[in-house]
Amino acid sequence: MHILSTPIEYLKGVGPIRSELLKKELNIFTYEDLLFHFPFRYIDKSNVHLISQINDSFPHVQFKGRIKKIEEKGNKRSKRLIAYFQDSSGVIELIWFKSIRWIKQNIDLNKEYIVFGKPSFFSGKPNLVHPDLDAMDGVKEDFMGLHGVYSTTEKLINKGLNSRAISKLVKNLLPLLENNIEENLSDEVLTKFKIPKKKNALINIHISKDLKILERAQKRLKFEELFFLQLHLLKSKQLRKTKTIGYSLTDIGENFNDFYNNHLKFPLTNAQKKVIKEIRADVKNNQQMNRLLQGDVGSGKTIVALLSMLIAIDNGYQACIMAPTEILAQQHFKTISQELKSLNINIDILTGSKKSKARKILLEELKNGDINLLIGTHALLEDTVEFSNLGFVVIDEQHRFGVAQRAKLWKKNKYPPHILVMTATPIPRTLSMTLYGDLDVSVIDELPPGRKEIKTLWKSDSSRLNIIRFMHEQIKEGRQVYIVFPLIDESAKLDYKNLIEGFDSIVREFPLPDFQVSVVHGQMKSADKEYEMQRFVEGKTDILVATTVIEVGVNVPNASVMVIESAERFGLSQLHQLRGRVGRGANQSYCVLMSGHKVSADGKTRLQTMVDTNDGFKLAEVDLKLRGPGDMMGTKQSGLLNFKIADLIKDNKILIYAREQAQILLEDDFDLSKSENINIARFYRPYARERMGWSRIS
Ligand code: ADP
Ligand code: MG
Repeated sequence: MHILSTPIEYLKGVGPIRSELLKKELNIFTYEDLLFHFPFRYIDKSNVHLISQINDSFPHVQFKGRIKKIEEKGNKRSKRLIAYFQDSSGVIELIWFKSIRWIKQNIDLNKEYIVFGKPSFFSGKPNLVHPDLDAMDGVKEDFMGLHGVYSTTEKLINKGLNSRAISKLVKNLLPLLENNIEENLSDEVLTKFKIPKKKNALINIHISKDLKILERAQKRLKFEELFFLQLHLLKSKQLRKTKTIGYSLTDIGENFNDFYNNHLKFPLTNAQKKVIKEIRADVKNNQQMNRLLQGDVGSGKTIVALLSMLIAIDNGYQACIMAPTEILAQQHFKTISQELKSLNINIDILTGSKKSKARKILLEELKNGDINLLIGTHALLEDTVEFSNLGFVVIDEQHRFGVAQRAKLWKKNKYPPHILVMTATPIPRTLSMTLYGDLDVSVIDELPPGRKEIKTLWKSDSSRLNIIRFMHEQIKEGRQVYIVFPLIDESAKLDYKNLIEGFDSIVREFPLPDFQVSVVHGQMKSADKEYEMQRFVEGKTDILVATTVIEVGVNVPNASVMVIESAERFGLSQLHQLRGRVGRGANQSYCVLMSGHKVSADGKTRLQTMVDTNDGFKLAEVDLKLRGPGDMMGTKQSGLLNFKIADLIKDNKILIYAREQAQILLEDDFDLSKSENINIARFYRPYARERMGWSRIS
């Protein structure tokens, strides 16, 4: 057994009771776990101050001197021990309210001490309450430096394991490990990036003389963490490309050409053309494509998906597109059927609401290859769904699907189909590098021409009458309006606008027969939802009152106003998605964010950011800062973005550098078999084994 795997109970100062707690509370099972339990902040003990120098701007102070006198004052609850501590410049009182007897017994008036604490001032005179007191002769060289503060828990503290005690354990541990920490980077990388060896970094992350040394240690450990992840992602990507056989879609055939030349309603943007070329280049070889398509709301991803699927169909394969909601699947089915109606392609739809008889027929036709193009929801992932020869899969609005679900679709086939994953919410570059680091990425960075910038307003209840008047005007001009509510059930404690109540008041303001109002929410039967939605799509209703079921993908170009009630309750990407429902036609469009008067600081930032920009990539950056990567991508539980020390937001430069270095390394020595890369190879093998599956996210 390697010494790093030694169970934590063997460490001096731990024992059976504490070890149980360390396991339960902090997941520390072994020496290695403790070694990697890094401090979350540091206290600077590198300076010794003079008592006469300090004032209330010092967060912590440290003095060297002697105790001249001790005395107890007060009684019962006000009882305290006071030690008069003197250095060359003056005297300060050290005060204890607890453990008085023990401290009194241990203080030695003949000894030189170093005392550390947070000063407080009492009528202009400084004192230190419950300071750290250490005899100078017992102080080791490493004492005067930066001291780590460790996360701990109530239960651990009750058993004496506060941050200081954990720090002591680490100090017991480090000398045991010093000669057993193997370097896992090559000399070349170490010198190029000017970072310390792993051994030194791991020691200095716990104890370091000064800030410079600490920062170098942090940089090294962050780099290492990001480097191996990127190495793994890039290697998996490369492996998949060379090893995973995919269907070779060599022909651009009849359907594609006919549609492209005769039925396209608009010229493609350059960005769309570029992406289609990228996809085409991927699927031509017999390698499996795994491509992420990013593009802002309304950038025209659907047509790219459709043309790609036509390539697959022309080559004799089936294609499918999976959407996150029934409404969206229905919409894709309608528009795609419409667009392809003059082509000889058999299209069908499978959602949860498909009646069992029709479903049976569909499954039959799918299995024997009669259906060329299947559109659907999660229902596509059910075990009973079998294709005859699925060659191309599009996953729309993928951020709505869980990681495992996507993996399931991958397994659907004998050979993996080509996969095009589309996101509606732009993802900051550093995040997509990590989360989708093993995919190829295409970006549509251009909106179709002629789109007018959506005007976004942030209003409170006092402007409600104006907003209603404005809606009247827009409807009079023939436009349609969305009103979105965050909740559909009255929740006793929350006074958020309720959809049903909201619906009633809208109907009062916009009465029949002059106005028609649709309502759609999650608890309706899907047939009813579909009916109401369809009325709005066809322009039969003026207003659609809805919950967020309409968030993704719904396309009604005539709609020009999006009113979002209690907008402070929505996340940024959701708000941006909702706003993207308007501005799809030639008319000037508006997004009105209604909020209460009490909005949290983050809420204000979100709403103001919406007002300030329409750019999805900029919004994504702000969102990342507000929420952090795990929350933003819904991957908090998956562990994919759990780093020990790296921070995707703060360390993006290191990340980009680490990815570059990993790329350079792989180009030179893909198998890591060269002798100069032996350190990397030795560490990487078990690392990769542990991560198998994580990279297979799509
Ligand atoms: P998203 O990328 O959000 O999925 P869609 O594919 O739904 O966007 O496209 C949004 C709208 O833009 C649709 O009405 C679509 O027909 C239209 N559109 C797409 N590409 C173009 C283009 N090149 N020129 C004009 N309109 C386009
Ligand atoms: Mg879409």
